[in-house]
Amino acid sequence: MSTANLLIRTLACSGQARILFVQNADLLNTVCNRPAIRSRLLRYALGLTVSAASLLAGTLKDRQRLSLKVKGSRPGCAWFADVDAAGNVRGYPGEALLDMSPEDLDRLSLPQLIGDRGFIQLVKDVGMYRSVTGITDMPHRNIVDDLAHYFRQSEQTPTHFAIHIDFDENSRVRTAVGVMAQLLPGATEGLMDRIREATRRLPDLSPADVDGDAFRQVPHRLFHDIEWLDERRVQAYCGCSKEMLRPMLHALGPGELTAACERNHPVEIVCRICGQAHVFTPDEIRELLTRDTPAPGSAPPAP
Ligand SMILES: [Zn+2]
Repeated sequence: MSTANLLIRTLACSGQARILFVQNADLLNTVCNRPAIRSRLLRYALGLTVSAASLLAGTLKDRQRLSLKVKGSRPGCAWFADVDAAGNVRGYPGEALLDMSPEDLDRLSLPQLIGDRGFIQLVKDVGMYRSVTGITDMPHRNIVDDLAHYFRQSEQTPTHFAIHIDFDENSRVRTAVGVMAQLLPGATEGLMDRIREATRRLPDLSPADVDGDAFRQVPHRLFHDIEWLDERRVQAYCGCSKEMLRPMLHALGPGELTAACERNHPVEIVCRICGQAHVFTPDEIRELLTRDTPAPGSAPPAP
């Protein structure tokens, strides 16, 4: 298995901790380097959230899904990441953030963007139409430690996240590695401090240290006794389709659609989550218009 966008699940520290490792630079470049996301700070905040979601993929099973929402103090200032057990990850900023000037955003630090009224909301879809929702505040204002705070508060599970993202001069992600550790029942006192100390070395890893097969050595470099559980792939995947975006075509109105047909121009609808453009040909638009026009003599639509 190639090591691009790889999630490794292990047991460590004599089986007292579950530790997950992810390398997801490729995935982050797809999710965060869209033309619509112009602010460096926003790319970084989204990158941290999407990396956390990538790690959380390793805690899901069967058809479980999980959605993360990070909300800053400013009105409408929120960003999102979703993941499922198959490692499909997507992430996107709310419209209000995309509308803000990137220069204004980049004058802020991450703690300033989150502010004193930020919160994290996590919705876990556990199947059979059941979901569990939890919300906590963000006392650390840095996402990563706030997520650990979430798991301590909401799930009473001692948890630690460490995520390192490094950008090149063109704002592309060069290195992205993350670690999530959870203590298992009966873990010795002070173990979490030792885990936290070990993950402080994450920013010291060079791109070569996490590239290709070298990434499989990272768990062993940070911890002495690693028991390998399994490896999984994580990938950027939105799940949008032309069929799902077809209702947005209606929003353009019959006038504009008819004009597009007359000019023989296709119409492009862009998914606001992943930025992918879905193209509707003039023939497809004509079909849509004909389908929506009531046949002569049929009853008029209800008012
Ligand atoms: Zn999409």
